[in-house]
Amino acid sequence: MGPDIVRDFSNDHSALALNTATLGHNLEGHGAGWSPEQVIDACAERGYGGIVFWRREVGTRAQEIGDRVRAAGMQVVGLCRTPFLTGPLVPGGHDAIMDDFFASIDMAAGLGASVLTIVTGGPEPRLKPLIESQKILADRIALAAPYAAERGVNLALEPLNPVYGGNRTCVMTVADALRVCDMVGAPNLGVAVDVYHVWWDTTLPDALAKAGQRILGYHLCDWLADTSDMLLDRGMMGDGVADLKGIRSAVEAAGYRGLCEVEIFSSQNWWQREPTEVLDTVVDRFRSVC
Ligand code: ZN
Repeated sequence: MGPDIVRDFSNDHSALALNTATLGHNLEGHGAGWSPEQVIDACAERGYGGIVFWRREVGTRAQEIGDRVRAAGMQVVGLCRTPFLTGPLVPGGHDAIMDDFFASIDMAAGLGASVLTIVTGGPEPRLKPLIESQKILADRIALAAPYAAERGVNLALEPLNPVYGGNRTCVMTVADALRVCDMVGAPNLGVAVDVYHVWWDTTLPDALAKAGQRILGYHLCDWLADTSDMLLDRGMMGDGVADLKGIRSAVEAAGYRGLCEVEIFSSQNWWQREPTEVLDTVVDRFRSVC
C-alpha cells in the first residue's frame, strides 16, 4: 500500500461497487444473462457496497430494483448512461436527444441513483475544432442539469480515452471535462474518473486536484498490455499496466471518498465466465491491488 492512499481496502471492501457491465449487462446478448435480482443477491452476499446499472436492464422497473438494492443493504451508486449528446451516434435531432436525456434522468431518479453518467458522443460531423463540439455538449447539459437537480440526480461527465475520439467522445481528459463543467456552471455537474480512460495521462493529478469535490465517481479496471479490442477487452484490476494505487491516491487526495465501481467490458474473457467467479475475483483484486 502506498503512503498516500487514504483508505485501506485490504481488509474492507465496503467501498466496492459493481458496474453490471462487468457481467456483460451493457450489451444485448453478452454475459450469463442474470436478472437484476440475481445480481443484487450475489453482490449482497459478498459484501459489495453498491451497484451501478445500465438502462437496458432496468427498463420500467427502476423503483422496484432500487428498493431491492437498498433492502439488501447496498446503494444504487449510479446509472449508465445518457444518450450520446453530440457526434455521429446521437439518437436523432436535438429534440430526440433531449427527450432521451430526460428519460435517463427520470430512470436515475426512479432508481434512487445519485449519479447519472454522461458519455458525451463524438465530435459533431463537419465541425472540426473540438471545442465547438464541447460548446454544443455544454448547451445540452445546461438544458438538462436543472431538471436533474430537481430530482436529486447528479450528472457525471466521463472523459473517455482518446481512442474513442472519433465517434464516442468529444471530452478526452479530466481537464477537458472540467472546462465543460465550467461552461455549464451547474452545481450538480461533475466528472467521473475511469482508470481505463485516464491511466496514460501524466497531468492527471493536477486535473484531479482542480476537480476536488466535483469528482462524482471512480471506475476501476485495467489496461491490458496487449489489448485486442479497444471497447470490449478491458482487463481485470492487476492484469494490466495502470498504476491503480497511484491513481486512487490522486483521486483521494482531491477529496473523493465515494464508492469505487468496477467496470470491465470483456467479451472474450470475463463475460465468458461464471458471474460468481467474476464477482469473487473482483473482491479479491479490489482488496489486493486497487
Ligand atoms: Zn466508466
